[in-house]
Amino acid sequence: MGEIISIINQKGGCGKTTTTVNLSTALALLDKKVLVIDMDPQGNATTGFGIQKADLEKTIYTVLSRKDATSEAIIPTMVEGLYILPSNIALSGAEVELSREIGYHSILEETLKEIKELFDYILIDVPPSLGILTLNALVASDSVIIPIQAEYYALEGMADLIKTMNLIEERLQSPSPIKGILMTLYDSRTRLGRDVHQEVKNFFGEREYIFKTTIPRNVRLAEAPSYGKPCILYDSESSGTISYMKLAQELLKLEEE
Ligand code: ADP
Ligand code: MG
Repeated sequence: MGEIISIINQKGGCGKTTTTVNLSTALALLDKKVLVIDMDPQGNATTGFGIQKADLEKTIYTVLSRKDATSEAIIPTMVEGLYILPSNIALSGAEVELSREIGYHSILEETLKEIKELFDYILIDVPPSLGILTLNALVASDSVIIPIQAEYYALEGMADLIKTMNLIEERLQSPSPIKGILMTLYDSRTRLGRDVHQEVKNFFGEREYIFKTTIPRNVRLAEAPSYGKPCILYDSESSGTISYMKLAQELLKLEEE
């Protein structure tokens, strides 16, 4: 096994980090061994698990710059079976440093080889850009999940993302098929929610899978990070928790089929 999935969309604020933190937690609670890779210099997934990012000596940055072995930088989270390769602001220097290396787009892929088989799932939280860090995430991944926030202009930039993914497939022979599109901050009772859902269906049509599970707007999901916990541990009854547990089950069921 050891399936690597990037949570990707170059739009900020569409729920990538929230999805990474809570989907990984849900998968671990369903007895999977899971690793989160925080590829964002902002380190929101890292703090989302209550880890003080400023004090970290070993991070995804020191791994990508080959100062540390991948296995040395991985730390356990408070969730059993769930580990993280954390990040902090040091990673912001990596774009320029990595770009000087030959084969810079596949450095993450290489650094993950030694640990890939230790996990059932590896989820990568990708920064909001189509830069070198995102490129590395795409090359390393076996598939992607695209969270889309239910708002107008939700699909702005989507064509660029698809184009980038197609180029990586053609030029680097490294396809990352879309595992599923995930509607986030979604309310089916509003016209906006329904309109955007329809727009997404029109855009992706029959070609791509759209998760049946949608993630509602839920204040508990937004509060949990300030307690340094996934929402699932912060409020087990919340609609946010329930929807991410359902998403994990839907994902596991997809894999069985
Ligand atoms: P991204 O990583 O794509 O930039 P985040 O996951 O950080 O997006 O989400 C952006 C903001 O919206 C954060 O403050 C987060 O707590 C909040 N948020 C994300 N998903 C939800 C949701 N379903 N309900 C309420 N707030 C959410
Ligand atoms: Mg984020």
